[in-house]
Amino acid sequence: MAATTVYKEPAPQVGNTENPLESMMSRFNIAAEILGLDDTSYEVLKAPDKQVIVHLPVMMDDGKVHVFEGYRVVHNTILGPSKGGIRYDKNVNLDEVKALAAWMTWKCAVVDIPYGGAKGGIICEPTTMSVGELERLTRAYTVSMKDVFGPDRDIPAPDMGTGPREMAWIMDEFSKAVGQTASAVVTGKPLVMGGSLGRTEATGRGVMVSCLAALAKLGMKPEETSVAVQGFGNVGSWASKLLFDKGLKVKGVSDISGAYWNENGINIDEAIAYKNAHSGRLEGFEGAEPMDPTKLLISAVDVIVPAAVEDVITEHNAPHIQAKLIVEGANGPTSASADPIINEKGILVVPDILANSGGVTVSYFEWVQNKQGFKWSLDMVTDRADRIMADAFEKVYAVSLKYNIPMRIAAYVVAIDKVAQTYKYRGGY
Ligand code: GLU
Repeated sequence: MAATTVYKEPAPQVGNTENPLESMMSRFNIAAEILGLDDTSYEVLKAPDKQVIVHLPVMMDDGKVHVFEGYRVVHNTILGPSKGGIRYDKNVNLDEVKALAAWMTWKCAVVDIPYGGAKGGIICEPTTMSVGELERLTRAYTVSMKDVFGPDRDIPAPDMGTGPREMAWIMDEFSKAVGQTASAVVTGKPLVMGGSLGRTEATGRGVMVSCLAALAKLGMKPEETSVAVQGFGNVGSWASKLLFDKGLKVKGVSDISGAYWNENGINIDEAIAYKNAHSGRLEGFEGAEPMDPTKLLISAVDVIVPAAVEDVITEHNAPHIQAKLIVEGANGPTSASADPIINEKGILVVPDILANSGGVTVSYFEWVQNKQGFKWSLDMVTDRADRIMADAFEKVYAVSLKYNIPMRIAAYVVAIDKVAQTYKYRGGY
């Protein structure tokens, strides 16, 4: 049987500027200072509420048992049940999951949806595992987290390495564990079993909406704007497609297989069709030339959209960025060490906790539909999500002007203020 243990605090990591938890905390500290956050609220919001580590013995196809390490970190539940995805990746680690969980708290607060923040992860290499192995792993994880998850407690969703298929297994296994159908325990489910229309493209769509809002502030026309997108998974490919449809010239894209460039603009419909026909990879795509992936984010484009992993914009490449606008599709793509350089260069950044919050917004709609037992039309989903994104953008932009601070810090100010005010009303011991 899988064991569940409460995690003990590790020795703090010192001097590593590329640690996402440190990057998150350094922005949190700046925003807390601007807000004049009192010591009690600071202490409450700083530490995650709960950290669970599990070891999951799973029978592999070769008959051997492999013990996987998995995490679920609930950062905060002041605004409501905790919400956040589950990541399957070989580089998953507790500090990363802690940072991602906190970002979920801030993200939900920025878009004003009634959720706290959480994140899960399992150290594994999903691309090398069979469907059966992944199913056994996902079910084992769900059973071990059955006292953490719950439709009104903690609601997982997809993240890197997971998708509707894994969410279906989680819904099924959790429903069995509690003896009743629990559709609202997880979002990002397949459409046929309570998933929401518009959920798949939601994060990429939010990136597009934020990008257009930012271009308007900069007085730039979409049809005269070029962009490079790092990452061609769910977020990157949808962001590319929707920006392409709005007339932006997507000159560069990248995925795990490499980076690809076309000075005249890549036909994103063709790139997606190619990817779908070639095991999810762009390698060999003839609509663009291969390029050095380390050059993509510093290429000659107006906008860069990092939509892959954390800490890809650092103090090392930030000085060479040519774009005027960064729209963060990924969580934590910019290290805190790069912030002053980017600000100094006058680059506008639509930060992750704002730009990629379209995904959790439509997850919220999915959860509401499951609770209502009623399905919304695609128009209803996209109209409401676009409005939420546009309103959140304006709110954060206004705060950035009010305090004369970058939009990243403004987003933290908006989020921390909301959670801290709610904490004051709710009170504590
Ligand atoms: N994993 C996504 C994120 O980082 C979605 C989370 C959710 O829908 O709960 O925002």
